[in-house]
Amino acid sequence: MARRVCLINSVLSAIPLYYLSFLRMLALVHKKLIAIQRRFLWGMDEGTKQICWVKWETITSPKSLGGLGIKDMKCFNASLLAKWRWNLFYQKDTLWSRILDSKYGGHGSLGGGQRGRQHRFWSEWWRDLQKCCGSHEQSQWFDKIKRWKIGNGGEINFWEDVGIGEESLLQKVPRVYVNSKQQSYKLADMGCWEGEDWHWQFQWRRNWLERDQEQWTFFQHAVSTVALQKHAKDRWVWPIDKSGCFSVSSTYKALHDLKYNGQVDDLLAHIWHMKIPPKAVILQWRLLHNALPSVDNLLRRGIVLPPLDSMCVMCNEQPETLPHFFFSCSIADQLWKYYFSWASISTVQPQTMRLHYCQYPQLCSPRPSRTPLSALDPDEYPLRP
Ligand SMILES: [Zn+2]
Repeated sequence: MARRVCLINSVLSAIPLYYLSFLRMLALVHKKLIAIQRRFLWGMDEGTKQICWVKWETITSPKSLGGLGIKDMKCFNASLLAKWRWNLFYQKDTLWSRILDSKYGGHGSLGGGQRGRQHRFWSEWWRDLQKCCGSHEQSQWFDKIKRWKIGNGGEINFWEDVGIGEESLLQKVPRVYVNSKQQSYKLADMGCWEGEDWHWQFQWRRNWLERDQEQWTFFQHAVSTVALQKHAKDRWVWPIDKSGCFSVSSTYKALHDLKYNGQVDDLLAHIWHMKIPPKAVILQWRLLHNALPSVDNLLRRGIVLPPLDSMCVMCNEQPETLPHFFFSCSIADQLWKYYFSWASISTVQPQTMRLHYCQYPQLCSPRPSRTPLSALDPDEYPLRP
């Protein structure tokens, strides 16, 4: 099975790479792809049925959460397609980018805000691209990750893109926004340069009222932190990648973490770092998931065995369960005692898998985890979305 996991990640997930970087995967294709991978993983021949011992959602979850780390094709597809949006922003002058810009509106129309509204003349491909690149349906993940690095402000929408932390000025100070006469202005149009000094030129519909005071104070503070650079262009930064540039791998990790936002299982996370053969790791993984064909597990899945075959194959005295087979069986007990005698250890055999591993504290202690997306320091990149 360890070899099959390796082959799925290196071959079965890689074969559709070209198509997935261009087209959004249909639900039917996704289902078929999973079926092929699942059949291969559990060693099923064409036309036969076998037990899938662990559900597919668990298998595609990260190893730290108890999965096998097999690629989630939907997250992978979205990560590959998101590169189009990044390249459309950074390669504006190329022919292919100018064609798409004139036809669909370029990178701005792939966003999730007002600019991201669908147009009835768009092709199916562009609509799919918009869906995968973080539209409303996809929780605007692209806009939540990317940060603006301010240059001359010519690209940045003042109310939608400027803000502090996770919220834009539009969300944070709606009363100030409503009072503005410059609601659709770019950052560069909100003031002017006098030599090398920037001066704000706000225009308001009415005087400030007492109930506006709190938001007005916050607005003034937010604006005071914005530093324009006269001779630099506005840039996007991808903070989840060390280089600051978009990468499919970092995006896949971020999307994967968002999807499988669960509690880290320290024991299941640790078994992958043991210096033992991969097939032994997989055996432990299946053991901890209670996913081996013991008699009790077969009965639970509706496979009825003759009474004589229901007993432990080693001692033939007790019903066969995994804890019995590995720990409490008289034959297994002799083997453990023999093994412990090498290290001059005297111990009592635990009754469950997890208790067995918890005899070794280093296996159950928490491991340092990756920084989650929500923990990114907003001050490092003061502009959002
Ligand atoms: Zn036994």
